Amino acid sequence: MQDCIFCKIIHREIPAEIIYETDNVLVFKDIRPAAPVHLLLIPKKHIPTFFELGPEDVMLMGELQTAAAEVARRLGLSNGFRLVSNIGRDAGQLVFHIHYHLLAGRELKWPPG
Ligand code: 5GP
Ligand code: ZN
Repeated sequence: MQDCIFCKIIHREIPAEIIYETDNVLVFKDIRPAAPVHLLLIPKKHIPTFFELGPEDVMLMGELQTAAAEVARRLGLSNGFRLVSNIGRDAGQLVFHIHYHLLAGRELKWPPG
């Protein structure tokens, strides 16, 4: 997708600190970290929000969550981590390419507000 910042990161058109990559997913550091560990997990397929997900995406979204598990193991996040997605305006979604935030490295308050 032209003009999608995350698609540009996938295609190496803008830089990012990439942590993990498969054929279908990419994990990189958030540019404005809200915790000592703050990663973004994205599918390489451009899907704007969860509202556009369909049955054809079941495997892909499973792979995305499994990537979170793999990254958490590799980084030794045994104290825990948070996996969240902001979906749509009320949740404060700013980038319209599906992503999970993986947050860790400090005690994370709940509810987030
Ligand atoms: P959202 O509110 O859509 O869930 O969050 C988007 C996230 O993307 C924000 O935490 C923001 O800091 C991050 N972000 C926005 N632009 C860039 C960028 O160019 N590079 C990286 N690494 N992160 C970005
Ligand atoms: Zn995109």
